[in-house]
Amino acid sequence: MIHLTADKIFEVIERQAEYGVDFMTVHCGVTRAAIEMLKKQGRITDIVSRGGAFLTTWMLHHDRENPLYENYDRLLSIAGKYDITLSLGDGLRPGCLADATDRAQIHELITLGHLTRLAWDQDVQVMIEGPGHVPLNEIETNIILQKKLCQNAPFYVLGPLVTDIAAGYDHVACAIGGAIAGKAGADFLCYVTPAEHLCLPDVEDVREGVVVTKIAAHAADIARGHKIAIERDRQMSIARKNLDWETQMKMAIDPKKARAYREKNPPAEDDVCTMCGKYCAIKQVREYFKD
Ligand code: SF4
Repeated sequence: MIHLTADKIFEVIERQAEYGVDFMTVHCGVTRAAIEMLKKQGRITDIVSRGGAFLTTWMLHHDRENPLYENYDRLLSIAGKYDITLSLGDGLRPGCLADATDRAQIHELITLGHLTRLAWDQDVQVMIEGPGHVPLNEIETNIILQKKLCQNAPFYVLGPLVTDIAAGYDHVACAIGGAIAGKAGADFLCYVTPAEHLCLPDVEDVREGVVVTKIAAHAADIARGHKIAIERDRQMSIARKNLDWETQMKMAIDPKKARAYREKNPPAEDDVCTMCGKYCAIKQVREYFKD
């Protein structure tokens, strides 16, 4: 990366555009001023975005401005020509809770707000990439800031992870943050797998990550009054009351896993489950709540 020229970077971007790429993440907001801000204030995890790290090291090595920022017009003309949506990446996103919502992160966000306006002026669609690692109590603030500074452009959040100590369970930390972010107005949730921070995920890790993120998105949809999402939960509840296992499987977010659990430990009586067995609360009460 260090030895690439700005022309080469744009050549590769244009080639990918010709291949038919629909959206590209570009870290245009990692400017010299933002890096200076980051260095001055200090951070625990410095820069954790791969794209952000590539660009920062390139800029410091060549003592130059970010070519994607400096030549943003060139980027917009490629995006306009090939109808590509730009995902304006957060190269300075916080990599731990202690770095969340700091001056470097917000400096970049202000730049992204400005670049959003320039893109819209050229009829190029954008979405804004967001953090990262954010304490639960700062998530809503992050969404409000993004929506204000980026004129309500779609916000796509990477989690956020609400604790740094969930190694092996980072998909859960991510889903908790995703649900809060979704409720507060985030438009798109990026999943995290249980292997996050530890190794390359395998297929099963990816599956787990996607399912828990779908749960977070669904929970946020309910909180935002999405009628179809609300109805699905209502149908699940009715099926539970009726001990209608087939409908429960159909309504479950992951029917394959739900069915596997039921089949792993089958009940003596078909209509209940092995949790309470013959003492099934629903079955007992149902007799007395008939019309
Ligand atoms: S046995 Fe218990 S957990 Fe299972 S369906 Fe009945 S009440 Fe629910």
